[in-house]
Amino acid sequence: MAPAQNQITSKHVAVIGAGPAGLITSRELRREGHSVVVFEREKQVGGLWVYTPKSDSDPLSLDPTRSKVHSSIYESLRTNVPRESMGVRDFPFLPRFDDESRDARRYPNHREVLAYIQDFAREFKIEEMIRFETEVVRVEPVDGKWRVQSKTSVGFSKDEIYEAVVVCNGHYTEPNIAHIPGIKSWPGKQIHSHNYRVPDPFENEVVVVIGNFASGADISRDIAKVAKEVHIASRAREPHTYEKISVPQNNLWMHSEIDTTHEDGSIVFKNGKVIFADSIVYCTGYKYNFPFLETNGYLRIDEKRVEPLYKHVFPPALAPGLAFVGLPAMGIVFVMFEIQSKWVAAVLSGRVTLPSTDKMMEDINAWYASLDALGIPKRHTHTIGRIQSEYLNWIAKESGCELVERWRGQEVDGGYLRLVAHPETYRDEWDDDELIEEAYNDFSKKKLISVDPSYYLENGR
Ligand code: FAD
Repeated sequence: MAPAQNQITSKHVAVIGAGPAGLITSRELRREGHSVVVFEREKQVGGLWVYTPKSDSDPLSLDPTRSKVHSSIYESLRTNVPRESMGVRDFPFLPRFDDESRDARRYPNHREVLAYIQDFAREFKIEEMIRFETEVVRVEPVDGKWRVQSKTSVGFSKDEIYEAVVVCNGHYTEPNIAHIPGIKSWPGKQIHSHNYRVPDPFENEVVVVIGNFASGADISRDIAKVAKEVHIASRAREPHTYEKISVPQNNLWMHSEIDTTHEDGSIVFKNGKVIFADSIVYCTGYKYNFPFLETNGYLRIDEKRVEPLYKHVFPPALAPGLAFVGLPAMGIVFVMFEIQSKWVAAVLSGRVTLPSTDKMMEDINAWYASLDALGIPKRHTHTIGRIQSEYLNWIAKESGCELVERWRGQEVDGGYLRLVAHPETYRDEWDDDELIEEAYNDFSKKKLISVDPSYYLENGR
C-alpha cells in the first residue's frame, strides 16, 4: 500500500449518478468523512434497474435529437450473476422467502434488483445526499478545483465549485451499432437491444439477432417464443457455423457473422446461408459517453478505450480530483463499485497516495502493451472479467480493505462458463452448491444474517 503521510482531509465531492455505482460511492465517500452531493437526472435511485416500457424515439438511437430513456432493461430480464455474489459485501442481496412481492430465486428478475438497491439506499440513508431530477450538464477543471454546472427538470441552473468529482453515469445507454455491408438499402426494421422491451412486435417475423453474449442469448430466446424464425449472427463463431439450437418452438439457429445485406431483404451470412428477414436486433453493446465532461482534450474515448486512466479509475494529470467508478466490464459489478470507491475516498482524504503522474502513465502504457501482446483489441481495454479478482484485490490492498472472497470469484467465473455452455438453463440449474454454502457461512460468520445459513440453503433449493 502507498504510504499515508498526509493529514486526513475532508473534501467537498460531487457524484454524478444515483445508480448502484453512485449510491455505493457516495456511501464510501461519506464514511471516509467527505461531504457529498449526488446529482441524479431521474426521479428515483436505481439507474439502469429502473425498468420502463418506454424506449428511445429512434429504435437504433442514432438520431441526436431523439427523446432518450436511460434504462436498457427488458421485461423478462433476470440477473446474470447469482445473488450471493451480486450484493455489496456488508449488505448481502438476501432472498426474502417471507415476502411474496419479492423474487427469491438465485438469479432474480430486475424488479428484485431494484428493490435491493432501494433497500440499500434506505438502510444507509443515501437519499439525503441526492438532488433528484438534476442533470449535470458540464464539468470542467478550474484552478485545481472542479466547476459543476447542473440543470433541474424545471430548467433551474446552478454553477458550483467542488474539490472533486466522481463520475458514475453508467455505460449501458449509448448503443454501439455494428456496421453491416449493404445495410443502408436493406428494407427491414432495425432496433438496438437498448430499446428492446418485449417480444410482441416480432410476432410471426423472421428475425436476425446480432450478438450472442448475455443480452443476445436472452433476447433471441425471448423473441423465439413468438417469431417464425430467429437467426443469431455471432462474430465469435467460426465462419462455417450453422447450428440448430434447441428451444421449445424449434425455430432458433446460430450462424457466423453477417457477410452482406441486400435491397431485396436478404441477409447473407459468412457460412453462405441466405435468409429473408423482417427485423434485425443489434445486441452489439454500448459506448462510453461523458457528454458533460470538458478536459481540453486530455481524456479521449477511442474505440471504447477511455484514456488515459490509471487502473480504469484515475486520469493521471487530473487525479485525484476526477475519478471514474464502474468503468470496467466484469461479473463482480457491485463489489467493484465498492472497492474502487473505497480507493477513491481514501485517496481524496489523503489516507492513501497515488504514484506520480509519470508513474501512472507508465502503468497505463504497460497495460496497453500487454493487451497488444495478447492480441486483445483496443475495444476490450476495460473488459477485464478474466482478471477481475486480481484487479479488485490489487485495489483492495492499495486502499487497505478486505480482499474479494474466494467463493465470489469462483461463483462468477463458474456462472460465466455455464452461461456460455447453457444460456437457456444456467440461471436455474447449477453445480456449485458448495460455493453457495460457503457464501452463507461467510455471511453468518460476519453476522450479516440473523438466522442459521441452513434457512437460506434449504429454502433456496
Ligand atoms: P447506471 O445503473 O446506468 O446508473 C447511472 C445513473 O446516472 C442513472 O441513474 C442516470 O440517470 C444517472 N446519470 C447519467 N448521466 C447523468 C447526468 N449527466 N446527470 C445526472 N445523472 C446522470 N450487473 C450485475 O451486477 N448483475 C446483472 O445481472 C447485470 N445485468 C445487466 C443486464 C444488462 C442488460 C445490462 C445493460 C447491464 C447489466 N449489469 C448487471 C451491469 C449494470 O450496468 C450494473 O448492474 C449497474 O446498473 C451499473 O450501475 P451504474 O451506477 O454504473 O450505472
